[in-house]
Amino acid sequence: MARGNATTTTTDTSTQTTTLPAVTSTLTQTTTVQPWLPAKWDYTADVVVVGYGGAGAVAAISAHDAGANVLVLEKSPPVANRVNTYGGNTYAISGGGGNTCICGGGLWSCDSADSFAQALYQLSWGSTPLDVCQAFANVDANLVSWCGSMNIPVSPTEGPGWYTNIDTGTYKSMIMPGGGAQLFSLLDAQVQKRNITVMLGTPATGLIQNPTTMEILGVEATNLATNAALNIKANKAVVLCTGGFEFNETMKLNYLKAYPTNFWGWNYNTGDGITMAAKVGAGMWHMNCVSAALSPWIPSNPSPSSYPFLYPGASSWIWVNKHGVRYANEYPPPLAIDTFYPYLTDFDTSVPEYTRIPSFMIFDSTVMQAGALVVPWGVHQLPAALGSNPTWSSDNSTELAKGWIQTGATIADLASAINGLSPFAGIHPSLNSSNNTGPANSIAIDIDPNVLTETVNTYNGYCTSSPPKDLQFGRPALNLVPIQKAPFYAVAMWPAGPNTQGGPIRNAKGQVCTSEGNAIPRLYSNGELGSVWGLLYHGAGNITECLCYGQISGQNAAAETSWS
Ligand SMILES: Cc1cc2nc3c(=O)[nH]c(=O)nc-3n(C[C@H](O)[C@H](O)[C@H](O)COP(=O)(O)OP(=O)(O)OC[C@H]3O[C@@H](n4cnc5c(N)ncnc54)[C@H](O)[C@@H]3O)c2cc1C
Repeated sequence: MARGNATTTTTDTSTQTTTLPAVTSTLTQTTTVQPWLPAKWDYTADVVVVGYGGAGAVAAISAHDAGANVLVLEKSPPVANRVNTYGGNTYAISGGGGNTCICGGGLWSCDSADSFAQALYQLSWGSTPLDVCQAFANVDANLVSWCGSMNIPVSPTEGPGWYTNIDTGTYKSMIMPGGGAQLFSLLDAQVQKRNITVMLGTPATGLIQNPTTMEILGVEATNLATNAALNIKANKAVVLCTGGFEFNETMKLNYLKAYPTNFWGWNYNTGDGITMAAKVGAGMWHMNCVSAALSPWIPSNPSPSSYPFLYPGASSWIWVNKHGVRYANEYPPPLAIDTFYPYLTDFDTSVPEYTRIPSFMIFDSTVMQAGALVVPWGVHQLPAALGSNPTWSSDNSTELAKGWIQTGATIADLASAINGLSPFAGIHPSLNSSNNTGPANSIAIDIDPNVLTETVNTYNGYCTSSPPKDLQFGRPALNLVPIQKAPFYAVAMWPAGPNTQGGPIRNAKGQVCTSEGNAIPRLYSNGELGSVWGLLYHGAGNITECLCYGQISGQNAAAETSWS
């Protein structure tokens, strides 16, 4: 990329294609520039937002409404006549959307900002400073009215928070009837209404920084349609909203507590914001915090995404580890999709191996006949051009025929059907080295049929005792249903979930900070990139954060004075 001491006036629009909106303005460089400045700017805005999911959309709207000229960069390509499906309905989306446009669309508002701030502080185990929690909570207390101003129809339902021992104050849950597809479609409409430029297929690749003052002056990006490198000037600030690192295998291997951990969502979230922020001096937080549990994932499936598992239509099933042994209450409070992950990190140093990766869901014909094992969330709501996962059949028959589900006439037969699987084949090269010495090269499943039979018999005994009682793990009596209707089935389950939480440290103004807590001038963030969720996640907290910290970051970015 051209850098140097250019002194000429440059007005370059050659990198625009017809798929991109018009340039908002171009740089006029008339004086000697510093070596860290590009020779020319291709686009200029007051505030450049990087990433067009919920976090980016709200930051863009808020910066615009605070008087800034805003430009948004989005990595994913344009798709003609794009719609997302949710619940049988379709929602028009101009582009991007990230995890936001395929999520459940759950969010919440609180009555008492102070109680919510304290709860968030506790849930982060003190890793998110109280003033950062308080800033979030103060905005959240007014979220219903903000949603109204954005034409987002929410119907708050009062109830307790997830964690019964942590006082969240009055918690008003709001779920979009059309899920994240509807939510993002409505945010997108607000962005369009304001004529905010969104450049699709234009990933940011780096931040342009004054090395003396640490100020962020602009963004390097690539136009994927033309392969042109672009320099985009941010007169006031940059807001990083690039989502998490759900699809960056090396980051997951290094940062998450269990590997592999798979995700249900947007394949373009590859931790780019983490790399860019680290290069300009940002510290990281919450890198090992993740909302995840167990889901089916098929290594040979062309889509890297996992299939979202909630709960099947019947309860005659259990989870067992790689050796056929049950290890936890499969129905723990609170909602297991987000908080089961800590159970999956058990590691046997004598082998060495993660004993519960993969786990197996063992179930009977009643569960098999009770409908799809997975819910229609995640990437399969998207058009194929954005990496859709093939849909899971409503009666699980397609997956059985493909060999994704194993079966046996007896539990012992089922163990034999599972055995021999080499579940780690094809995953991260560090685990399967070419010379066959990687830590996972030799791992194959070998469940003793007698052990699995004993596990199921013991569980069934808890179900049929009077009253039903799980003496090992305390599974609720309501869900103690025996596994007894042959044939029997198993599906490999992997650590999986909606999203990661880690990324650059954020302060109460939404600024990105160094590990010492100093704000990097003119750099802000929002969303799951460096989320405030630090240890325990509370459901609907990510979308709520996008909507709250998006207002904070967007307004503060717009309030900066121009550097040129
Ligand atoms: C199936 C599912 C269900 C969920 N349900 C809920 C729920 O009900 N409630 C809740 O609170 N949370 C839920 N979540 C989590 C929530 O959706 C996300 O945490 C939230 O949407 C994150 O918003 P974001 O804007 O930070 O990231 P995203 O929405 O993922 O947006 C990030 C954007 O940045 C873009 N990008 C990435 N790299 C670059 C780059 N280099 N340059 C430019 N652009 C880039 C991406 O393409 C993407 O469009 C769910 C997630 C999933 C997958």
